Amino acid sequence: MKQIFAWLTDFKKECPVCNSTGTIVCNCNENNELSCPNCNGTGVVSVRKTTSQTYEVPCDYPGCKNGKVQCGTCSGTGKNADGTPCSVCKGKGVINCHVCSGVGKIKRVKQETWLEHEPCHICNGRGMVACYQCQGTKKRVCPECKGTGTIRNTKKIILLAVLAMLVIAMPILVAIFALAGLGYCLFSIEQKNKENTQKHAQQTGSSAQQREDAKIEFGDIE
Ligand SMILES: [Zn+2]
Ligand SMILES: [Zn+2]
Ligand SMILES: [Zn+2]
Ligand SMILES: [Zn+2]
Ligand SMILES: [Zn+2]
Repeated sequence: MKQIFAWLTDFKKECPVCNSTGTIVCNCNENNELSCPNCNGTGVVSVRKTTSQTYEVPCDYPGCKNGKVQCGTCSGTGKNADGTPCSVCKGKGVINCHVCSGVGKIKRVKQETWLEHEPCHICNGRGMVACYQCQGTKKRVCPECKGTGTIRNTKKIILLAVLAMLVIAMPILVAIFALAGLGYCLFSIEQKNKENTQKHAQQTGSSAQQREDAKIEFGDIE
């Protein structure tokens, strides 16, 4: 019983990667060096560089001439209908362009991006770094079991979960089957009763008919 309980509560199995030792042989070289993870052993990394330049172009708003556009209120005449000077453009017929604010030029920003190769700052361009996995011991923590020597027994957990589900579901299943069986029994009894009644009705019907026939015959004889 104790053994069964121990088996039921033990969800771990031996780690196959390290044979339960918790460590594996490190794959660093004889100098205890590993390929640099930052530059993948190339010694070079690419750095993204960006510059932005601001430059001016003539205002591209339609109708803008050197920062001025036609006054919409007086249609460029500079005068109102009665001949008085237009108050919006003060008689000039043009107003400042709202896109370039009267300057006649707008600013554009040009961005350039490129990759530049630099020596890796982790390995100083050597491509190799001192082993960070074993610190020179040539033994590193097993990545599968994280050094514990055991891993989760997934199959057993699933098996036990299914078993537990069955144990919980069994009474329900039994109840369902029992109810279904009972329902079928009741149904067939009812069906049989119905058939019997029909047969009885037919029988009584035919005997009544016979009696009727007999009566007719009898009447003919009289
Ligand atoms: Zn005007
Ligand atoms: Zn403009
Ligand atoms: Zn590097
Ligand atoms: Zn190592
Ligand atoms: Zn392991």
